[in-house]
Amino acid sequence: MTVIAARDEREARIALDFPILRKPTSRGKRLVYLDSAATSQKPQSVIDSLVRYYSEYNANIHRGVYEIAELATEAFENARAKLAAFINAAEPAEVVWTRNSTESINLVSYTWGQNNLRPGDAILTTQLEHHSNLVPWQLLAAKTGAELRFIPVDGNGMHVLDDLDRLLNGVKLLALSHVSNTLGTIAPLAMLVRRAHAAGARVLVDAAQSVPHMPVDVQALDVDFLAASGHKMLGPTGIGFLYGKRELLEAMPPFLTGGDMIRRVEYLSTEYNEIPWKFEAGTSNVADAIGLGAAVDYLSALGMDWVRRHEMRLTAYALGRLRELAPRGLTVYGPPAADIENRAGVISFNLGDVHAHDVASILDTEGVCVRAGHHCTMPLMERMGWPATARASFYVYSTEADVDALIFALNKAADIFKLKG
Ligand code: PMP
Repeated sequence: MTVIAARDEREARIALDFPILRKPTSRGKRLVYLDSAATSQKPQSVIDSLVRYYSEYNANIHRGVYEIAELATEAFENARAKLAAFINAAEPAEVVWTRNSTESINLVSYTWGQNNLRPGDAILTTQLEHHSNLVPWQLLAAKTGAELRFIPVDGNGMHVLDDLDRLLNGVKLLALSHVSNTLGTIAPLAMLVRRAHAAGARVLVDAAQSVPHMPVDVQALDVDFLAASGHKMLGPTGIGFLYGKRELLEAMPPFLTGGDMIRRVEYLSTEYNEIPWKFEAGTSNVADAIGLGAAVDYLSALGMDWVRRHEMRLTAYALGRLRELAPRGLTVYGPPAADIENRAGVISFNLGDVHAHDVASILDTEGVCVRAGHHCTMPLMERMGWPATARASFYVYSTEADVDALIFALNKAADIFKLKG
């Protein structure tokens, strides 16, 4: 009993840190935000860090010799160091600022990919991927003559690995998501990285849905590249990062070129800067990098083990409560409830034959925000035969009361569409 009380207290305290969650909707409902896989809400400390930067030490970085420019440079590089420690990179230089996961993946595709792939090579990905971790590889395959292959998934969205040896034959790059944004499937990453390395391939991990939600240690996993977005981990929009092993980043040509990424420029030639700045052309997104540093502080204070446990508990609770709606036609997709270790806090579902957009619109009238559609995984939807799904996703501020509100609103939707109970 005391454990439950302490848990509720902590959850309630966390939600108070997020001002948007205190503001009722225009219909006077409590905001029940269950779309964190799309983007997370921001705690006051992150918002304050942005206001402080702009109101106290806004200046361009790396070049200024005056006090506020030095303060800005220090805060910007300090945020990089915090992020490097957060994912246990060997050094901050292995963390490159980008706009988001999408840009990080494109950076690798354009620089490492175009210089390392040739006809006869293969790129291996999975049937689960977000378009961000698929379209860049389609383009790279077309440009280099490499073949694009897919690890299949079963009807629950779990990786089918029976044929992995054959699939890995000739592969130069395995590019896969750690956690599926549509089904919540957690990839058996450590094993896949080992097998890929043994086959001579490099591994890029799309960690957009894992770094925000669970401990991720790039050295323990031995990944070569890892991409994530700040806005999904309590940070601002417009900032993300690419982790890459030093020797790989050093050997890669720059992505964008111009100011800041140079050491010395002559009229006809340029000597590039060291990593990570070689990949950071032009004025960086200073404010949002600092904001992401504040988000990392917030998550670190909670502890990523706690974040993962909290989301597992909530997911198990939600899966249990959603079962109550099975007689009314609710179907939940993804790894089975008993497989909670392989599932993140993302739950896709459909209610009878009602279109997911209609379900989401009714939930909205109760203040419940869920996503509906293809979730930027159109080939996966096609593979599964679903026109669309509704998706609820959790984060640090989500509570059992949010799940209860979801169930209440789903029953309302079932009433409106006269689905029997
Ligand atoms: N990969 C996955 C698994 C995602 O969930 C997302 C965002 N939905 C992305 C990549 C792309 O992230 P961003 O739009 O921030 O680049």
